[in-house]
Amino acid sequence: MSPQVPLPVHAWPQMQPGWVWLCGAGPGDPGLLTLHAANALRQADVVIYDALVQEAILDWAPQAERIYAGKRGGKPSAKQRDISLRLVDLARAGKKVLRLKGGDPFVFGRGGEEAQTLVQHGIPIRIIPGISAGIGGLAYAGIPVTHRDVNQSVTFVTGHDQSGNTPGSLDWTSISRGSQVIVIYMGMKHIAQIAAKLIAAGRSLHEPVAVVTTATTAHQQVLETTLGTIVDDIAAAELEPPAIICVGQSVLMRQVLDWQGQAAGEAPRNLDPLGRGRPAETA
Ligand code: SAH
Repeated sequence: MSPQVPLPVHAWPQMQPGWVWLCGAGPGDPGLLTLHAANALRQADVVIYDALVQEAILDWAPQAERIYAGKRGGKPSAKQRDISLRLVDLARAGKKVLRLKGGDPFVFGRGGEEAQTLVQHGIPIRIIPGISAGIGGLAYAGIPVTHRDVNQSVTFVTGHDQSGNTPGSLDWTSISRGSQVIVIYMGMKHIAQIAAKLIAAGRSLHEPVAVVTTATTAHQQVLETTLGTIVDDIAAAELEPPAIICVGQSVLMRQVLDWQGQAAGEAPRNLDPLGRGRPAETA
């Protein structure tokens, strides 16, 4: 589909000069962009994008100047300030500015900080949510982030804080005890420490875990493992970030819901992975 294809009839908002729209690009697959994102891409004068935004998505904005603002691994906060101030400068220069971030801009994406700086400088903003990797990425791996037979809550956590360490502010014992399913962003670097903390807090060594890398792209890889074996298995599979790590029984649902494997001709491994012995919808 090209940018010339009209959007469905709707009162699409017009980008105004001097505005910044903070927009989620979804986890990778361009089909997971929202229509508001597509509407923004075709109007922007300039797109400032992050490392996790797929190149194909930028092709939706052929008229726009592209500025790469990638940074990985929670490094210098000074640079984050530079990005925010660059947005301010571009808006003040009268540009229609699209700030494009992977996933959802307000989920572990510093979108809140950028938006705050813009408002503090008197720049008008619009926020366009996106599909976050911790939900959409797991769906592409056949893992429902909630399932009535598994969890009534889900916890999204980041594997490191601004300093690059495992977040000291996180109470892993409470998270471990209170949440049946834990979805970890940016968890690869400190996975040994995180797994150890979860086990120390009482989670089983056999607890199912999935690691989904470059989710929703053509390079997506899914590792099914357990808390006790995750460190060795990640090393053996030579997995690299970006990755979403999901801890909990919902990982087992992949045995029946791996729709990508099934599309490639694989049979479901187990139609009732939670052993409920009844069709799911009869509860
Ligand atoms: N705002 C983003 C998250 C940004 S933090 C969102 O809502 O998805 C960056 C982290 O997100 C990565 O380290 C990784 O944990 C996760 N992530 C983002 N895109 C991903 C993808 N395509 N596959 C796997 N993990 C991804």
